[in-house]
Amino acid sequence: MANPIPKVELRNIDLRYFTLDGETEAVSGFSLAVSPGEFVAIVGQSGCGKSTLLSLIAGILEPTNGDVLVDGSSVEGPSPICGYMLQHDHLFEWRSILDNVLLGAEIQGHDRVTARTRAESLLRGYGLGDFMAHFPHQLSGGMRQRAALARTLCTNPEILLLDEPFSALDFQTRLALSDEVSAILRREGKTVILVTHDISEAVSMADRVIVMSKRPGHVKAVHDIVF
Ligand code: ADP
Ligand code: MG
Repeated sequence: MANPIPKVELRNIDLRYFTLDGETEAVSGFSLAVSPGEFVAIVGQSGCGKSTLLSLIAGILEPTNGDVLVDGSSVEGPSPICGYMLQHDHLFEWRSILDNVLLGAEIQGHDRVTARTRAESLLRGYGLGDFMAHFPHQLSGGMRQRAALARTLCTNPEILLLDEPFSALDFQTRLALSDEVSAILRREGKTVILVTHDISEAVSMADRVIVMSKRPGHVKAVHDIVF
């Protein structure tokens, strides 16, 4: 039996941005329930509201209407339960790879020794064992994204939000890395929501693909991926 409480649930979400120039309706009537351990991809063209959805789940934005629930409770703001990884790796150039990976644990005040052990084991697992003392500019794009993933996972979030994390990489690197990352996340039993404009990436990585309409974004189609 599937767990009756979704890990993440969006109920009939509307999100309007208000700016000096007026109002943008980014998301309208969007609903989605994601089970624990499920890997869901949301695809849609640029500007349809994908990043907005992730920011709502992360508790960075509040919906204009509707409810955002994590583990059955309303999201009240950012929480360490969600790890958020963006297209640009946002590594700090002046910190070593290991110190970059330790950043979240440091901010959340985790025990430094435990965090360091976890960071080192993640980096070794991602083929970066020999690069812990290197600085970001010494790594390739694919290696940098793996380091960014290690940083996101170092604080052990239960939910991973991935915002087009591979789109800045070349095609070959993207293929190799997306395979690798989906294997890692499945092994770790994470609940994952990936947003992308790349349908082939969505199909190759996810259990379920949600296709969004143009802005204001709502669910246009849902495909279960079975091989
Ligand atoms: P996507 O990630 O699918 O490209 P976004 O969620 O970033 O789309 O944006 C959806 C729409 O909302 C776009 O039209 C965008 O211009 C607008 N938008 C996004 N962020 C803001 C903001 N902070 N203020 C005003 N409008 C915004
Ligand atoms: Mg976006």
